[in-house]
Amino acid sequence: MTAIPYTAGLHRLAGDTFAYLQPPGTWGFSNCGLVADGDQALLVDTQFDLPRTRALIDTIAAELPGLRIGTVVTTHANGDHCWGNQLFGDSEIIGSAATAHGMAHEVPPEALGALSGPHAPDGPLGDYLRRSFGCFDFSGIALTPPTRTFTGRLEVRVGGRTVELVEVGPAHTDGDVVAHVPDAATVFSGDILFIGDHPIMWTGPVDNWLKACAWIEATGARYVVPGHGPVTDLAGVREFRGYLEHVAEQADRRYAAGVPYWQAATDMPLPDACRGWGHRERLVITVAALYHQFGAPQAPMMEVLTHTAAAERASAG
Ligand SMILES: [Zn+2]
Repeated sequence: MTAIPYTAGLHRLAGDTFAYLQPPGTWGFSNCGLVADGDQALLVDTQFDLPRTRALIDTIAAELPGLRIGTVVTTHANGDHCWGNQLFGDSEIIGSAATAHGMAHEVPPEALGALSGPHAPDGPLGDYLRRSFGCFDFSGIALTPPTRTFTGRLEVRVGGRTVELVEVGPAHTDGDVVAHVPDAATVFSGDILFIGDHPIMWTGPVDNWLKACAWIEATGARYVVPGHGPVTDLAGVREFRGYLEHVAEQADRRYAAGVPYWQAATDMPLPDACRGWGHRERLVITVAALYHQFGAPQAPMMEVLTHTAAAERASAG
Protein backbone atom coordinates (compact mmCIF):
# COMPACT_ATOMS: atom_id res chain seq x y z
CA MET A 1 0.00 0.00 0.00
CA THR A 2 1.09 3.57 -0.58
CA ALA A 3 0.10 6.72 1.26
CA ILE A 4 -1.53 8.22 -1.84
CA PRO A 5 -5.25 8.66 -1.07
CA TYR A 6 -7.71 7.27 -3.60
CA THR A 7 -9.59 10.48 -4.28
CA ALA A 8 -10.45 12.09 -7.61
CA GLY A 9 -7.90 14.43 -9.14
CA LEU A 10 -4.20 15.12 -9.31
CA HIS A 11 -1.86 13.61 -6.68
CA ARG A 12 1.83 14.38 -6.39
CA LEU A 13 3.86 11.16 -6.14
CA ALA A 14 7.45 12.32 -6.19
CA GLY A 15 8.87 15.65 -7.39
CA ASP A 16 6.96 16.77 -10.48
CA THR A 17 5.38 13.37 -11.11
CA PHE A 18 1.64 13.04 -10.62
CA ALA A 19 -1.19 10.54 -10.81
CA TYR A 20 -4.63 11.71 -11.95
CA LEU A 21 -7.03 9.30 -10.27
CA GLN A 22 -10.63 8.56 -11.21
CA PRO A 23 -12.43 6.62 -8.48
CA PRO A 24 -14.29 4.31 -8.42
CA GLY A 25 -12.04 2.91 -11.20
CA THR A 26 -14.71 0.65 -12.68
CA TRP A 27 -15.62 0.44 -16.38
CA GLY A 28 -14.28 3.57 -18.10
CA PHE A 29 -12.99 5.36 -14.98
CA SER A 30 -9.32 5.37 -15.94
CA ASN A 31 -6.27 6.99 -14.39
CA CYS A 32 -3.72 9.24 -16.10
CA GLY A 33 -0.13 10.19 -15.31
CA LEU A 34 1.76 13.46 -15.59
CA VAL A 35 5.53 13.99 -15.68
CA ALA A 36 6.80 17.58 -15.72
CA ASP A 37 10.06 19.47 -15.81
CA GLY A 38 9.89 23.27 -15.76
CA ASP A 39 7.07 24.18 -18.15
CA GLN A 40 7.36 20.93 -20.16
CA ALA A 41 5.12 17.97 -19.49
CA LEU A 42 4.21 14.49 -20.68
CA LEU A 43 0.74 13.08 -20.09
CA VAL A 44 0.09 9.35 -19.88
CA ASP A 45 -3.38 8.64 -21.33
CA THR A 46 -6.45 10.82 -21.80
CA GLN A 47 -10.02 10.09 -20.70
CA PHE A 48 -13.01 8.21 -22.14
CA ASP A 49 -14.97 11.23 -23.33
CA LEU A 50 -14.46 14.91 -24.08
CA PRO A 51 -16.06 16.35 -20.89
CA ARG A 52 -13.85 14.16 -18.70
CA THR A 53 -10.76 15.04 -20.73
CA ARG A 54 -11.62 18.76 -20.43
CA ALA A 55 -11.91 18.27 -16.66
CA LEU A 56 -8.43 16.70 -16.71
CA ILE A 57 -7.02 19.63 -18.71
CA ASP A 58 -8.72 22.17 -16.40
CA THR A 59 -7.42 20.44 -13.27
CA ILE A 60 -3.85 20.46 -14.58
CA ALA A 61 -4.14 24.13 -15.66
CA ALA A 62 -5.52 25.15 -12.26
CA GLU A 63 -3.01 23.24 -10.15
CA LEU A 64 0.07 23.53 -12.37
CA PRO A 65 -0.43 26.75 -14.35
CA GLY A 66 1.73 27.41 -17.39
CA LEU A 67 2.51 23.77 -18.14
CA ARG A 68 2.79 22.78 -21.80
CA ILE A 69 1.86 19.16 -22.50
CA GLY A 70 4.13 18.51 -25.48
CA THR A 71 3.74 14.72 -25.37
CA VAL A 72 0.79 12.40 -24.78
CA VAL A 73 1.46 8.68 -24.35
CA THR A 74 -1.39 6.33 -25.26
CA THR A 75 -0.85 3.13 -23.29
CA HIS A 76 -3.33 1.10 -25.35
CA ALA A 77 -6.28 1.30 -27.72
CA ASN A 78 -9.25 1.02 -25.32
CA GLY A 79 -11.31 4.21 -25.58
CA ASP A 80 -11.14 5.01 -21.89
CA HIS A 81 -7.42 5.75 -22.37
CA CYS A 82 -7.42 7.62 -25.68
CA TRP A 83 -10.80 9.00 -26.76
CA GLY A 84 -9.79 12.41 -25.40
CA ASN A 85 -6.65 12.57 -27.59
CA GLN A 86 -8.18 15.09 -30.02
CA LEU A 87 -8.01 17.78 -27.31
CA PHE A 88 -4.20 17.55 -27.51
CA GLY A 89 -3.94 18.42 -31.20
CA ASP A 90 -0.67 20.36 -30.75
CA SER A 91 1.04 17.53 -28.87
CA GLU A 92 3.01 14.61 -30.15
CA ILE A 93 0.96 11.50 -29.36
CA ILE A 94 3.09 8.39 -28.85
CA GLY A 95 1.90 4.79 -28.79
CA SER A 96 2.91 1.39 -30.03
CA ALA A 97 2.26 0.57 -33.67
CA ALA A 98 -0.14 -2.14 -32.51
CA THR A 99 -2.11 0.45 -30.50
CA ALA A 100 -2.35 2.78 -33.51
CA HIS A 101 -3.74 -0.15 -35.50
CA GLY A 102 -6.01 -1.29 -32.66
CA MET A 103 -7.68 2.10 -32.17
CA ALA A 104 -9.37 1.76 -35.55
CA HIS A 105 -10.74 -1.68 -34.62
CA GLU A 106 -12.34 -0.91 -31.25
CA VAL A 107 -16.13 -0.53 -31.01
CA PRO A 108 -16.43 3.09 -32.25
CA PRO A 109 -17.67 5.83 -29.87
CA GLU A 110 -21.02 6.29 -31.68
CA ALA A 111 -21.71 2.56 -31.53
CA LEU A 112 -20.82 2.33 -27.84
CA GLY A 113 -23.04 5.35 -27.22
CA ALA A 114 -25.93 3.62 -29.00
CA LEU A 115 -25.34 0.35 -27.13
CA SER A 116 -25.29 2.04 -23.72
CA GLY A 117 -27.62 5.02 -24.19
CA PRO A 118 -31.31 5.36 -23.34
CA HIS A 119 -32.24 3.45 -26.52
CA ALA A 120 -29.92 0.51 -25.82
CA PRO A 121 -31.40 -2.86 -26.68
CA ASP A 122 -33.44 -4.40 -23.85
CA GLY A 123 -32.22 -7.52 -22.07
CA PRO A 124 -29.35 -8.37 -19.74
CA LEU A 125 -26.59 -7.18 -22.12
CA GLY A 126 -28.22 -3.82 -22.89
CA ASP A 127 -28.90 -3.36 -19.20
CA TYR A 128 -25.29 -4.17 -18.31
CA LEU A 129 -23.86 -1.82 -20.95
CA ARG A 130 -26.24 0.96 -19.88
CA ARG A 131 -25.20 0.64 -16.25
CA SER A 132 -21.49 0.39 -17.15
CA PHE A 133 -21.22 3.11 -19.81
CA GLY A 134 -24.43 5.17 -19.63
CA CYS A 135 -22.75 7.91 -17.57
CA PHE A 136 -20.29 8.81 -20.37
CA ASP A 137 -20.87 11.25 -23.22
CA PHE A 138 -19.60 9.67 -26.42
CA SER A 139 -20.57 12.58 -28.67
CA GLY A 140 -18.08 14.54 -30.75
CA ILE A 141 -15.21 12.08 -30.43
CA ALA A 142 -12.83 11.98 -33.40
CA LEU A 143 -10.47 9.02 -33.08
CA THR A 144 -6.97 10.50 -32.83
CA PRO A 145 -4.31 7.79 -33.11
CA PRO A 146 -0.65 8.24 -32.18
CA THR A 147 1.32 10.63 -34.40
CA ARG A 148 4.50 8.73 -33.53
CA THR A 149 4.59 4.95 -33.18
CA PHE A 150 7.26 2.54 -32.01
CA THR A 151 7.83 -1.12 -31.26
CA GLY A 152 9.84 -2.49 -28.37
CA ARG A 153 11.24 0.37 -26.33
CA LEU A 154 11.46 4.14 -26.61
CA GLU A 155 13.05 6.79 -24.40
CA VAL A 156 11.31 10.16 -24.35
CA ARG A 157 12.71 13.39 -22.89
CA VAL A 158 10.60 15.77 -20.83
CA GLY A 159 12.79 18.83 -20.25
CA GLY A 160 15.81 17.22 -18.61
CA ARG A 161 13.98 14.10 -17.49
CA THR A 162 13.64 10.70 -19.13
CA VAL A 163 10.55 8.53 -19.47
CA GLU A 164 11.06 4.98 -20.62
CA LEU A 165 8.23 3.47 -22.70
CA VAL A 166 8.18 -0.30 -22.99
CA GLU A 167 5.84 -2.30 -25.19
CA VAL A 168 4.74 -5.27 -23.08
CA GLY A 169 1.77 -6.36 -25.19
CA PRO A 170 -0.02 -8.15 -26.57
CA ALA A 171 -1.45 -8.83 -23.11
CA HIS A 172 -4.52 -6.83 -22.00
CA THR A 173 -4.78 -5.57 -25.62
CA ASP A 174 -2.60 -5.97 -28.72
CA GLY A 175 -0.33 -3.02 -28.07
CA ASP A 176 0.07 -2.39 -24.32
CA VAL A 177 2.80 0.04 -23.27
CA VAL A 178 3.97 0.84 -19.74
CA ALA A 179 5.71 4.12 -18.86
CA HIS A 180 8.58 4.04 -16.37
CA VAL A 181 9.91 7.21 -14.77
CA PRO A 182 13.20 6.14 -13.18
CA ASP A 183 13.98 9.41 -11.37
CA ALA A 184 10.59 9.23 -9.61
CA ALA A 185 10.64 5.45 -9.05
CA THR A 186 7.22 5.40 -10.70
CA VAL A 187 5.52 3.17 -13.26
CA PHE A 188 2.32 4.08 -15.10
CA SER A 189 1.09 0.65 -16.08
CA GLY A 190 -2.00 1.37 -18.15
CA ASP A 191 -4.36 -1.61 -17.96
CA ILE A 192 -1.57 -4.08 -17.26
CA LEU A 193 -2.84 -3.46 -13.73
CA PHE A 194 -6.33 -3.14 -12.34
CA ILE A 195 -6.43 -2.65 -8.57
CA GLY A 196 -9.55 -3.47 -6.59
CA ASP A 197 -11.50 -4.96 -9.50
CA HIS A 198 -11.00 -8.03 -11.65
CA PRO A 199 -8.95 -7.18 -14.76
CA ILE A 200 -10.04 -7.91 -18.33
CA MET A 201 -7.89 -9.86 -20.74
CA TRP A 202 -9.14 -8.93 -24.21
CA THR A 203 -6.33 -10.62 -26.12
CA GLY A 204 -3.54 -12.18 -24.02
CA PRO A 205 -1.39 -14.20 -24.16
CA VAL A 206 -1.25 -14.45 -20.39
CA ASP A 207 2.50 -15.23 -20.48
CA ASN A 208 3.19 -11.75 -21.85
CA TRP A 209 1.03 -10.28 -19.10
CA LEU A 210 2.96 -12.21 -16.42
CA LYS A 211 6.24 -11.03 -17.95
CA ALA A 212 4.94 -7.45 -17.91
CA CYS A 213 4.22 -7.75 -14.18
CA ALA A 214 7.68 -9.20 -13.58
CA TRP A 215 9.19 -6.34 -15.60
CA ILE A 216 7.40 -3.77 -13.41
CA GLU A 217 8.58 -5.60 -10.28
CA ALA A 218 12.18 -5.51 -11.58
CA THR A 219 12.10 -1.70 -11.85
CA GLY A 220 11.97 -1.50 -8.06
CA ALA A 221 9.36 1.26 -8.42
CA ARG A 222 7.94 2.83 -5.29
CA TYR A 223 4.72 3.95 -6.96
CA VAL A 224 2.77 1.94 -9.49
CA VAL A 225 -0.20 3.74 -11.02
CA PRO A 226 -2.67 1.23 -12.48
CA GLY A 227 -5.01 1.94 -15.37
CA HIS A 228 -7.88 1.62 -12.90
CA GLY A 229 -7.95 1.82 -9.11
CA PRO A 230 -5.71 3.27 -6.40
CA VAL A 231 -1.94 3.73 -6.63
CA THR A 232 -0.20 0.57 -5.54
CA ASP A 233 3.32 -0.74 -4.88
CA LEU A 234 5.35 -3.78 -5.86
CA ALA A 235 3.52 -5.98 -3.35
CA GLY A 236 0.30 -5.05 -5.17
CA VAL A 237 1.88 -6.03 -8.51
CA ARG A 238 3.01 -9.39 -7.09
CA GLU A 239 -0.47 -10.07 -5.75
CA PHE A 240 -1.95 -9.25 -9.14
CA ARG A 241 0.54 -11.54 -10.91
CA GLY A 242 -0.43 -14.33 -8.50
CA TYR A 243 -4.09 -13.82 -9.46
CA LEU A 244 -3.29 -14.13 -13.18
CA GLU A 245 -1.27 -17.31 -12.62
CA HIS A 246 -4.09 -18.79 -10.58
CA VAL A 247 -6.78 -17.93 -13.15
CA ALA A 248 -4.70 -19.29 -16.03
CA GLU A 249 -4.08 -22.56 -14.21
CA GLN A 250 -7.74 -22.98 -13.21
CA ALA A 251 -8.90 -22.19 -16.75
CA ASP A 252 -6.41 -24.66 -18.21
CA ARG A 253 -7.84 -27.47 -16.07
CA ARG A 254 -11.40 -26.64 -17.02
CA TYR A 255 -10.54 -26.36 -20.70
CA ALA A 256 -8.97 -29.83 -20.55
CA ALA A 257 -12.14 -31.12 -18.87
CA GLY A 258 -14.39 -29.66 -21.58
CA VAL A 259 -16.10 -27.08 -19.35
CA PRO A 260 -17.50 -24.09 -21.35
CA TYR A 261 -15.57 -20.85 -20.76
CA TRP A 262 -18.49 -19.02 -19.18
CA GLN A 263 -19.02 -21.83 -16.69
CA ALA A 264 -15.28 -22.06 -15.94
CA ALA A 265 -15.29 -18.33 -15.21
CA THR A 266 -18.12 -18.54 -12.72
CA ASP A 267 -17.24 -21.76 -10.90
CA MET A 268 -13.47 -21.44 -10.40
CA PRO A 269 -12.29 -20.78 -6.83
CA LEU A 270 -10.38 -17.54 -6.36
CA PRO A 271 -7.38 -16.62 -4.20
CA ASP A 272 -8.21 -14.98 -0.85
CA ALA A 273 -6.43 -11.80 -1.97
CA CYS A 274 -9.17 -10.97 -4.49
CA ARG A 275 -12.24 -11.80 -2.38
CA GLY A 276 -13.33 -8.18 -2.20
CA TRP A 277 -12.65 -7.31 -5.84
CA GLY A 278 -15.51 -6.07 -7.98
CA HIS A 279 -16.67 -7.24 -11.41
CA ARG A 280 -16.05 -10.95 -11.08
CA GLU A 281 -18.11 -11.32 -14.26
CA ARG A 282 -15.10 -9.96 -16.20
CA LEU A 283 -13.54 -13.39 -15.72
CA VAL A 284 -15.87 -14.55 -18.51
CA ILE A 285 -13.98 -12.29 -20.96
CA THR A 286 -10.57 -13.32 -19.58
CA VAL A 287 -11.33 -17.04 -19.61
CA ALA A 288 -12.68 -16.80 -23.17
CA ALA A 289 -9.32 -15.27 -24.20
CA LEU A 290 -7.42 -17.98 -22.28
CA TYR A 291 -9.43 -20.74 -23.97
CA HIS A 292 -8.51 -19.23 -27.35
CA GLN A 293 -4.83 -19.35 -26.30
CA PHE A 294 -5.30 -23.00 -25.32
CA GLY A 295 -6.58 -23.77 -28.83
CA ALA A 296 -10.33 -23.10 -28.82
CA PRO A 297 -11.79 -21.10 -31.71
CA GLN A 298 -12.22 -17.42 -30.85
CA ALA A 299 -15.63 -16.86 -29.28
CA PRO A 300 -17.62 -13.99 -30.92
CA MET A 301 -17.38 -10.81 -28.82
CA MET A 302 -21.16 -10.34 -28.53
CA GLU A 303 -21.50 -13.91 -27.25
CA VAL A 304 -18.75 -13.31 -24.68
CA LEU A 305 -20.35 -10.06 -23.52
CA THR A 306 -23.78 -11.68 -23.31
CA HIS A 307 -22.34 -14.36 -21.00
CA THR A 308 -20.56 -11.62 -19.04
CA ALA A 309 -23.82 -9.76 -18.46
CA ALA A 310 -25.55 -13.01 -17.50
CA ALA A 311 -22.78 -13.82 -14.99
CA GLU A 312 -23.11 -10.39 -13.42
CA ARG A 313 -26.86 -10.76 -13.16
CA ALA A 314 -26.53 -14.23 -11.60
CA SER A 315 -23.96 -13.06 -9.02
CA ALA A 316 -26.11 -10.02 -8.15
CA GLY A 317 -29.26 -12.07 -7.81
ZN1 LIG B 1 -9.05 0.89 -19.13
